[in-house]
Amino acid sequence: MQGTFRRENALNYTCTRDRGITVTAARAIVQGISKDGGLFVPERLPAYTPEDLQAMQGMDYVGRACKILSDFLPGFSADEIRECVSAAYAPGKFSGGHPAPVVEVKNGEYPMHVLELWHGPTCAFKDMALQLLPHLLTHSLKKENCDKTAVILVATSGDTGKAALEGFKDVDKTRILVFYPENGVSPMQKRQMNTQEGDNVCVCAIEGNFDDAQSGVKRLFVDQEINAQLDRHGMLFSSANSINWGRLLPQIVYYFSAYCDLLQSGAVKMGDPVNFVVPTGNFGNILAAYYAKKMGLPVHKLVCASNANNVLTEFLRTGVYDRNREFHATISPSMDILISSNLERLLFDATGDDKQVAQWMRQLAETGRYEVDGPTLQTLQNTFAAACCDDGKTKQTIREVFGSAGYLCDTHTAVAVNAYEQYVDETGDKTPTVVVSTASPYKFADAVLSAVSEKYNPADEEFHKVQQLAEETGMAIPAPIAGLQSKPVRFQNLCKKDEMGRFLLRLVGLE
Ligand SMILES: *Cc1c(COP(=O)(O)O)cnc(C)c1O
Repeated sequence: MQGTFRRENALNYTCTRDRGITVTAARAIVQGISKDGGLFVPERLPAYTPEDLQAMQGMDYVGRACKILSDFLPGFSADEIRECVSAAYAPGKFSGGHPAPVVEVKNGEYPMHVLELWHGPTCAFKDMALQLLPHLLTHSLKKENCDKTAVILVATSGDTGKAALEGFKDVDKTRILVFYPENGVSPMQKRQMNTQEGDNVCVCAIEGNFDDAQSGVKRLFVDQEINAQLDRHGMLFSSANSINWGRLLPQIVYYFSAYCDLLQSGAVKMGDPVNFVVPTGNFGNILAAYYAKKMGLPVHKLVCASNANNVLTEFLRTGVYDRNREFHATISPSMDILISSNLERLLFDATGDDKQVAQWMRQLAETGRYEVDGPTLQTLQNTFAAACCDDGKTKQTIREVFGSAGYLCDTHTAVAVNAYEQYVDETGDKTPTVVVSTASPYKFADAVLSAVSEKYNPADEEFHKVQQLAEETGMAIPAPIAGLQSKPVRFQNLCKKDEMGRFLLRLVGLE
């Protein structure tokens, strides 16, 4: 069935577990995940020359994004792509005029360029993709001759839910419902979600933890009765989670953009290699950097940074992926993850072997562990380095970088800075390096304040801590966070984990 979507002479997408599958980009975005559980990947990558980079250097962020997206989405016209990209990165959506600025931080022996990806409406890097995905999805639905309204279901532990709500807010032919664990998100994250504006959005807490929310959403996606009911009323389920190709693609853009900006500022000359250090959870962000390298971006090493949940550090050092370990709730919660879904795409690219990837993923599902062979590990290590640090080191790094360079970073970014310092100590590598910064420090004000201030009192309420952080550091509070306090709470829904289906049906008017 999937084979019927093939288009000749264009870039199609295949599946990490079965190369026999071929779909268009639009189909890959609408479907999200292959029916066999594998992930969609492009059959080949566009190749960029120094001349291409030169041309991109002269463009603004929207221009750079249009260039890259058009090479991956042959079924989209240039006008459609420009429409999607312009809507996503419209002036005013990202503060400061550049959606992904690079700033120089003179961090003692470890000088670095920091790529700030948190100037969007929710102050975390998920905006870079989730501002664009809704537009790609609605165009993809049209291309698939689907006239239905997409009902986006999200289970979130914090950042993704809010970014998806902001992205889908008032987007035509979509509705979005976000479930979060009642006691499993930070006060700031809860407030961000429950004050969400838009006519097509809804938020509901569930009595349970994140896994309960996640399994509940998965059950709804495959519930035949509910799917049939939606279908009869002109609706269908869709997903905004990070394995959707439509979320990965927008992330490739900012790696090229960062390099162009370094060329522009004279920090590197054309062709000079750079390193990227990426705070990693589900392996989406760093995988986009890997694709950029394969497309011709001059990259030396990619450093994968993890917190105490260091399953990836161990994997990239030993070739053993083992999720059978204690789960740590850390101060960098968006990286608290033991199954890094997008790693599957890297394994497919490194081996080219769909059968082998399928087998490793089966082992992961059945035993929680797999081990790659020596040559595959070597291939990965040619590009990737890895390091991790715990909460204590994370706070220490925040304090040191602020003290020595006057730069305030959030907890996730601090994990990356610490990993970079370890990497330099181990290798002596002096290649110019870009540390990817994924959230505003104000999004994790409690931990950041405790790292830099003597006056920190854990009992203070969240907005007080935000205010204190501003007073102590002189760094402006981002408008979306400053504005939260006065926004009315719109949602106070709470349901039991086995009532999520009924909640959904009532919401869409079917019960
Ligand atoms: C999601 C997230 C990450 C992890 O990104 P992945 O693409 O899942 O590796 C890191 N930092 C922050 C702030 C995030 O929200």
